[in-house]
Amino acid sequence: MRTFLTALLFIAIIGSDAQGRSSEVEIGLLTQAKPTKIIITPLRGDYSVVSNDSVIYSLKNHDLLHISLKDQKLELRTLNGLLGTFLNVRLIPQGEDGAFKLKSVIPYGHAKSYDDILNINNGSKCLQVINEVNIDKYVAGVVKSEVGTNEGLELYKVHAIICRTYALSNFRKHEEEDYQLCDKVHCQAFAGSCDQADPVTGLSYAASNDILKAAVQTAGLVLVDTTLELITASFHSNCGGQTCNSEDVWMLSKIYLRSVKDPYCVQRKNARWERKVSQAKWLGYFERVHGYKVSDEQSRERALNFTQTSRAPYFQNNQKIMLKDVRADWRFRSTFFSTSVSGDQVVVQGRGFGHGVGLCQEGAMEMVLRGIGYKDILNFYYTGVALIDIASLRFLLR
Ligand SMILES: [Zn+2]
Ligand SMILES: [Zn+2]
Repeated sequence: MRTFLTALLFIAIIGSDAQGRSSEVEIGLLTQAKPTKIIITPLRGDYSVVSNDSVIYSLKNHDLLHISLKDQKLELRTLNGLLGTFLNVRLIPQGEDGAFKLKSVIPYGHAKSYDDILNINNGSKCLQVINEVNIDKYVAGVVKSEVGTNEGLELYKVHAIICRTYALSNFRKHEEEDYQLCDKVHCQAFAGSCDQADPVTGLSYAASNDILKAAVQTAGLVLVDTTLELITASFHSNCGGQTCNSEDVWMLSKIYLRSVKDPYCVQRKNARWERKVSQAKWLGYFERVHGYKVSDEQSRERALNFTQTSRAPYFQNNQKIMLKDVRADWRFRSTFFSTSVSGDQVVVQGRGFGHGVGLCQEGAMEMVLRGIGYKDILNFYYTGVALIDIASLRFLLR
């Protein structure tokens, strides 16, 4: 039954292929800003401004188009004056590879560049701005915002596949808003076009170029589990030497999110952390929040000298105090910590940074430096998964 439902899900996603949409995604832009006035400038090539299938204006390279919400309609202006008011407009590149700059004027925002088509609708009280963009360019725009600069082609490939897998399994997240994904962390942070240097993130032209290359060279590749279901490809900064089982962090068991020993990240930047807290505060916390008996000598000793040589899900097994809760309450960098006593202080020595489930980013960086390829990196962190082209998946499910 599950496999059948999975097949249906894929057919539903790939079904859009026949309408020519599988290679494009619709991304809601400026969804938090809720703009009432924007400016658009073509950066590469000229654009046709279209409404109701009629071309109303030809916007030349570096021309400015102002769009404001007036009486529930879009008012369009260029430097030559008013173009008119419309219910919606579509900006389509006249050449094959158009790009434009978009800036929110009310409220004020920084300009960002985007590729391909832009749709603007009346979103009641604000303009609804949707970028209809080639999926590889979208993937590159997400990798650009999620991965550090100058990390190399192989690491960008790892993240391009993770990003594409996530995008395809979350295609219906914004169905009610008439687009597929938003540009915020809620879906995946999308930083726009990735074909130039970015002074804001410090991304060089060469790095941008590598990111785009990684997206194109892995085009169509996604990660699936043994039932051909797209995986939840979670990742974190540094696992401290061992990743977590998904159920120990999210109560959700996934066969491919298993704890693995990771020798690659242990010398990296986020491998270790330390905090000191007073003994009274530490013991008081366990007594108050978890009803832990600190009056009992043996229990008290266990709480002060807690050790993890390999990753444990619980702080204390007999009471099932989950380490993820202790981490959240103390805002620790990870759940992978041990404690010892120094005077009236408890020294908390931790390893890693982040939830610890799935791919360890710093481990993956180290693997790339040691010449390990993206397929082996993905297989190391995601247990028993397969890398498959979404097109061949369609063939298998026919
Ligand atoms: Zn979203
Ligand atoms: Zn690691």
